[in-house]
Amino acid sequence: MCGIAGIFNFEDAETLVAETLFAIQHRGQESCGIAVRDCRGNISYHKGMGLVKQVLTPENIAKHQGSIAIGHVRYPTAGRSDKVNSQPHVAELPEGPHIAVCSNGDIINYNEIRTWLENEHSFTFRSDNDGELIGRLVAYYLVHEKMTIEEAITETQNKLKGAFSTLLIYRDMMFAFRDPHGFRPFVLGHLNHETGKEIMSDGVVFASESCSFGIVGATFIRELEPGEIIRLERGKPLKVVATAGKNKQHCVFELIYFSRPDGITFDELVYDVRKKIGAKLFDYDKDLGVDKDTVVMAVPDSSNFVALGYAQASPANFDMGLLRNHYVGRTFTKPEQKQRDEGVRHKFNPLPEFFNNKKVVLVDDSIVRGTTLRKIVRMVRGAGAKEIHVRIGSPKVVGSCYYGIDTPTRKELIASKKDVDEICDFIEADSLKYMSVEDFNIILQHPGNFCFACFNLKYQYSPEDFLQKTNAPDNRC
Ligand code: SF4
Repeated sequence: MCGIAGIFNFEDAETLVAETLFAIQHRGQESCGIAVRDCRGNISYHKGMGLVKQVLTPENIAKHQGSIAIGHVRYPTAGRSDKVNSQPHVAELPEGPHIAVCSNGDIINYNEIRTWLENEHSFTFRSDNDGELIGRLVAYYLVHEKMTIEEAITETQNKLKGAFSTLLIYRDMMFAFRDPHGFRPFVLGHLNHETGKEIMSDGVVFASESCSFGIVGATFIRELEPGEIIRLERGKPLKVVATAGKNKQHCVFELIYFSRPDGITFDELVYDVRKKIGAKLFDYDKDLGVDKDTVVMAVPDSSNFVALGYAQASPANFDMGLLRNHYVGRTFTKPEQKQRDEGVRHKFNPLPEFFNNKKVVLVDDSIVRGTTLRKIVRMVRGAGAKEIHVRIGSPKVVGSCYYGIDTPTRKELIASKKDVDEICDFIEADSLKYMSVEDFNIILQHPGNFCFACFNLKYQYSPEDFLQKTNAPDNRC
């Protein structure tokens, strides 16, 4: 999971992109960067390891001013936490101007395309990152196949398999394009202009999530269609080059966990979906004896609205017995187990005397390895809780993700080898229930548009694709 942002044809675009990235910092805290086309037609960039406020400081981005800018926040992948894999990437063209690219997703046929570009066309890669691959593939079609930029991007889109929400700067143009299944979110907004029938290609903003638009004063317009290619050029109307969408495969985990609750993702209000999940979880608990003395609480923060939905549907009260230290990032996105363990200890602390002899419904969004949740259950029991009933706002995670989320291998996923009772024993809870895949059909407006592959193993791409991906360098965003 990563985040992308782009501003087209607006003063101080570099600053606005940095602010937009700050609003989607939850999508990646390992590294970040921006690329800017300045008034002389050069593309410059600045990127580094760390948070947006550390890397994209006013001093650093003052050297990269322009009205067309893109940016990226990256989340780490094990062993590949290196500045060289941070984005955006710039692909040089023989006579300039260069191409700048940032992308969120995961290219499954990365290895095949990279080998072809290196062996057949003498391309040199600096990173193992799929953002660079996309830029070099576009450059190949432009330079070697003499295509126009629109043709080059269309061919690139056709050749890539997997998930990609991508922004690209070329000359004084910006392109936004998305994989045909629309795995990762990608939204379009308007900056300080009246929304008329036709969007003029000035003051346009793109981002992974609409919650970032408020910070720059942008208006949400719509989500990009799967397979869509948008072209922006100064003084011209926004042009939709292509809408080659196939069956939609939006990542349902975005609604459960990743996306911020104050946004609209895949046409769903994220907080609303989470509250409905919570209410549905209470439906499973009619015989649990939940009453006004029961404490319903979340593992903060991604589960807050699920726990709230549960509590509002039940006679119990929503309360907050665990305090979260907000200076610790998402433990799930830490690359090593040791970091994740330390993250739990540093991240959560129980309120003194809060849990004494209480019956607790502890709500979390998902269970990956089970080790983090076991530490939290132990923490809550050690603080005095009498009963701890764990409720999970997603189905059992039984498979890895190949579309932009760094879930561990199958054998590391506790639900791939244990049943619910065994997982309950492992996490040391008094009871455990998961949200069912079937009940998402009730909660979502268009459940058929979503990917549930890590829950039901119904992947869009074949196992051969995965094998190739597994052999490839780790190229995730
Ligand atoms: S496999 Fe899971 S995490 Fe990956 S895109 Fe599908 S639903 Fe999302």
